[in-house]
Amino acid sequence: MKILLGKEVCEKLHEEISREARSFEDAPKLLAIVVGDDPSCLCFVNSKGRKAEALGAHFECLNLDASLSQKEIEEEIRKTIKRLNPDGVILERPFPKHIDFTKLTELIPPCADVDCQRMDNMGRLLSGAPRHIPATAGAVLEILKFYDIHTAGKEVVVIGRSQTVGLPLSVLLLAKGKFADATVTVCHSKTNNLEKHTRKADILVAAVGQPKLVSADMVSEEAVIIDVGTTYVDGKLTGDVDFDSVSKKVSAITPVPGGVGPVTTAVLLRNLINAVKYRKEQHN
Ligand code: NAP
Repeated sequence: MKILLGKEVCEKLHEEISREARSFEDAPKLLAIVVGDDPSCLCFVNSKGRKAEALGAHFECLNLDASLSQKEIEEEIRKTIKRLNPDGVILERPFPKHIDFTKLTELIPPCADVDCQRMDNMGRLLSGAPRHIPATAGAVLEILKFYDIHTAGKEVVVIGRSQTVGLPLSVLLLAKGKFADATVTVCHSKTNNLEKHTRKADILVAAVGQPKLVSADMVSEEAVIIDVGTTYVDGKLTGDVDFDSVSKKVSAITPVPGGVGPVTTAVLLRNLINAVKYRKEQHN
C-alpha cells in the first residue's frame, strides 16, 4: 500500500511558483474574503496566506463581521478590490445564511477568479475552456498525475457533488485527455446504497465532510483512495475515509492531514501566477 503524500506532489509546484512569483516586477497579490469567525475557515485561510507569502506573493485577508448585510459586505469587497487591485481573489466558505454567495462571486474580476467561483468561469470549465481549474479539483488531478495513476477507462467514483469540489472534479475526469477519460459515477446524500457504487471504484474520491464515512467494507482491494474531506473532530483534522482500516486493504491512499490540502494551496497559487500572466497579456 502506498501513501500518496501531498508534500511530494507540492515540491516541484512550489519551486515553479516561487521562481515565477519572484520573476515579476511586483509580487502577485492574493485577496481572501472571509465573513464570520469560523475557526477552521480562518485556520485554512491563514495557512494559505503563510504559504503564499513564503513563495513570494503578497497576501491579504478581508475578514468581515457576520452581522453585516449583503449590501454592506458587497461595498467592503468593492472597496478592498479597488484599493488592493489583487491578481487573485478567493471567497472562503462558509458564508452566513443571509448572504447570497453567487452575487458576491460576481464582484471578483473574471481573470482574478483563481478558484473558479464565478458562474461564467464555471460555465467555461463545463465547456472545456477553463480560465482557472478550481483548486481542490486541480489538486486531486495533480496527485493522480504525480503518482502516474491513470484514469482513462477506469471506474472513478466521486462522493460529493458540490460546486466547489465534487462537480468540477467529475467534469474534469469525464473530459477527453490524459488523466481524464474516466467513467465517472457521482454520489451524494440521496444516493441509495452508497457502498454498491464505492465497491466498484478503481479510484474513489471522497469529498463529503462526514468524518470516516468510508469504511474498509465499502472499498475494493487495489482501489486508489483520495480523501478530500477535512473536518475537525476533537481538535483533530479528520478525513471522510477511515484511514486506519481502509489503508490496510487498498493499493494507495491520501492521508488527512498531509494529502489533498497542501496540494490545493499549491494549485491555487499556481492559478495566481497564471492570473498575473493573463493580466500582462491583456495589457500588451
Ligand atoms: P459540501 O458543499 O458540504 O458538499 C458535500 C457533498 O457531500 C454534497 O454533495 C452532499 O450531498 C454530499 N454528502 C453529504 N452527506 C453524504 C453522505 N452521507 N453520503 C454521500 N454524500 C453525502 O462540501 P464541499 O465544499 O464539497 O467539501 C467537502 C469536504 O471537503 C469538506 O470536508 C471540506 O472541508 C473538504 N475540503 C477540503 C479541501 C482540501 O483542500 N483538502 C478543499 C475544499 C473542501 P448533497 O449534494 O445531496 O447535499
